[in-house]
This record gives sequence, C-alpha cells and structure tokens, in this order.
Amino acid sequence: MTPTADLLITNGTVITMDADGRIIKNGAVAVSGETIAAVGASADMQALPAGEIVDAAGGIIMPGLVNSHTHAAMTLFRGLADDLPLMSWLNDHIFPAEALLDEAMVHAGALLACAEMILSGTTCFCDMYLFEDAVARAAKIAGMRAVVGEVLYDFPSPNYGPIEKGFAYTRRLIDTWKNDPLVTAAVEPHSPYLCAPDLLREAADIARTHRVPLVIHLSETESEVATIREKYGATPVRHLADLGVLDANLLACHCVVLSERDMDLLQQHDVKVAHNPESNMKLASGISPVPDLIKRGVCTGLGTDGCSSNNNLDLFSEMDTAAKLHKASRLDPTVMDAATVLRMATIDGARALGLDSVTGSLETGKRADIIVIDTRKPHLTPMYHPISHLVYAVGGSDVATAVVNGRVLMKDRRLLHLDLEKIMADARQIAAAIRSP
Ligand SMILES: [Zn+2]
Repeated sequence: MTPTADLLITNGTVITMDADGRIIKNGAVAVSGETIAAVGASADMQALPAGEIVDAAGGIIMPGLVNSHTHAAMTLFRGLADDLPLMSWLNDHIFPAEALLDEAMVHAGALLACAEMILSGTTCFCDMYLFEDAVARAAKIAGMRAVVGEVLYDFPSPNYGPIEKGFAYTRRLIDTWKNDPLVTAAVEPHSPYLCAPDLLREAADIARTHRVPLVIHLSETESEVATIREKYGATPVRHLADLGVLDANLLACHCVVLSERDMDLLQQHDVKVAHNPESNMKLASGISPVPDLIKRGVCTGLGTDGCSSNNNLDLFSEMDTAAKLHKASRLDPTVMDAATVLRMATIDGARALGLDSVTGSLETGKRADIIVIDTRKPHLTPMYHPISHLVYAVGGSDVATAVVNGRVLMKDRRLLHLDLEKIMADARQIAAAIRSP
C-alpha cells in the first residue's frame, strides 16, 4: 500500500526535538489526519501523494511551542498599568479591572491571545483564569491545544461564588472536556497564600482522582515566602509537601525563591516547574534558580505568564530572555545554553503538562503540532546553527506557518480560521469599558 499524506511540509531543516535531538537538513514532515505520519529527508518523501504541500523554502520546520503558564484573557489588560510595585499594581489596577470581567469578555480576551500565540508560533498553552470554560471554547475555535483550569481561592470568585461551587465548576470542566482532542482540563488553586490547606488538599484530591494536572503559583516572591512562613512555619514548597500536595502531576509556576531543601523536595516528588523570566523581571520578583533545577533533573517548561506582566505572549522572546538572564545573573555564559532553552519551550513544556506523548516534538505517531520559520530575512542570514537562531535571533513574527492537530491554522502569516479584525475590534471595545468604569 502506498502511504499518502493529507499535508506535506517540505524543503526545510527539521528540528525534531526527539530524544536524540535529531536535526534533518533538507527534511520534510508528512501529516495524515491529526497525526505525524513520517519525518525524514525531503527527497524520500517527494513521491508521496499529498493533499496539501507547504514549502518551507529552506527555513526551519519544528514542533509548535508550548506556553506552560499564562492567563490568556489578560491580553485585555496589556499596558493598562506598568512599572508599579506588585501590591499596588494588583490592588489598584488589575483586581479592579478583573472585577468588571464577565464570561464574554474572557472569551474575547482569550481569542485575542490565541491569535497572538498562533502568529508567534505557540500551538499549546496552559491557562489559569476566571470563566475558564470560555477560554476552552476560545482555544477550540482557534484550533489550539490547551490545558485549562478555573482559578480557585479562598474568597468568593466573580465566576462561581464560594469555593464549593469552584470545585463543582472544576469537576464540570474536567467532565465537559475529557474526550476532547485539543482541550484538557486541570485543577488550578491560585497559590499557597490565597488558598487554605483544606482547599489545597481537596484540589490535589480532585486532580489525582481524575488524573489531570494540578497547577499552582508557587514561591513567586520573597513576600509570599515570608507570609507562608509566618502562617505555617514552613517555606511554600515545604508547606505543600506537608499537605501531601507535591506530586508528579503538579505544575508549579514561577518557583523564584527556593532553598536547597525546596529544590530537593521538588526533585524527590518529580514536580514540574514553569519558568516565567520576563514576568519575574517586570514585577521585580527575582530570578528563579532554573539552572540548578535542570541540573537536578526537574522538568522545567517556559511560560509568558499573563500579558499584563510581560507584556506579550511571544515565546521566542521568552526563550531569548531565559537564555540570557541566567548567564548575566551567574556571570557564566555556559548556563542555559540554547538547546536547553529550546527544550523548555517544546518537549519539556509538553512533559510539564502531561502532554509529551501528544506534542512537543516531531515524531511519527504524535499529533501534528508544527510550525515553519521563514529564514529568508536579513536578521536570520546566514544560518550556521538553526538552534542558535531559534533562541537568539528568531522573533515570533518570523513564523510563517502553524499547524495544530493536523490542521493548518496559519499560512504565510495569514490566520485561516480567525477573524482578526473582529477580534481586535471586540478587544478595543472592552478596553474602553475598562478604562471608564
Ligand atoms: Zn501567573
């Protein structure tokens, strides 16, 4: 039987991100339905009958990027308030703006985020926010892969009210999306400082019962560590360990302030970490000891965090920052080399979300989440090492084509399934209401 492909992406350098780090010059990727059917030399696949052919024009063919921590709908607050101390930023600007949100606004903000992410090469994201079912629906409309979780905390939520209803909402979310090819639900308590021990135990219990990820902000600032120490006599990581919450399905976002003992605990329990260097820099939270975590074998993904503390969702920019920040802080140019950072934004990010059998690398049998970088640009010429370019020279706007689950979402920088003008008009309208409440 002659194999056929619905989609053939050809004539590029294929960065597989597989276990061997295979790079194929003059390579191609064949897609059949939702799945990668073959990865190999262009010459070997030229005879393959294909429905649609994408010519990478000598550029880079690689897995779509994985944003392991964001709050997608916060695109609505981009640039609303900057350069402020964390508490004033949150209490005087972000929380009052969030109090105005409803489900339709979150949907509009999430659609805007999806458009921005596809345009900058992200094909999968892990989200925490209010009205999260609206984010799931936006991801579905956009055709993106997503892990979604309703933010849970001790005080009443503008979405679900008291926490008991938050657990019910979370269970419903898990149930609604459990067989979806693109969307997975997660359980997402906000943080140890906004969630009482009972809430955290219950959240962990729901995640274990339903075998879904548990996602939390952890050890983001010195003040969080001081608060938790005062309340519970332990570091935030130790506190979660004492509650029995540390587990292989836990994704801990930020992990900026960690002791050696904290890192031991994360390692022992196989906890996953999401590193958000630009947000940590902008909010002056500090620098996560990511090189030490990686040395210990802690699986670490890369995230942008929300748009109001970054202020973009471009993971290429985030990779560049991640690679340079740790060099500068340690006065050591060998830490966080480009290949390590690229793994964080692809396969390690996928593993952090429990999706490494699905996405994060180009391998036969995995879902076809693929992007193509157009390297016919002055800032990408010449190209000695494609991985160096991906981390230090490529920007999100160099992504020409994006495919998720076998479906072409963007071709030649044109979004094929989203009405970008309408999405931006809706966001402007919401912004006018936020500015003049
Ligand atoms: Zn966050």
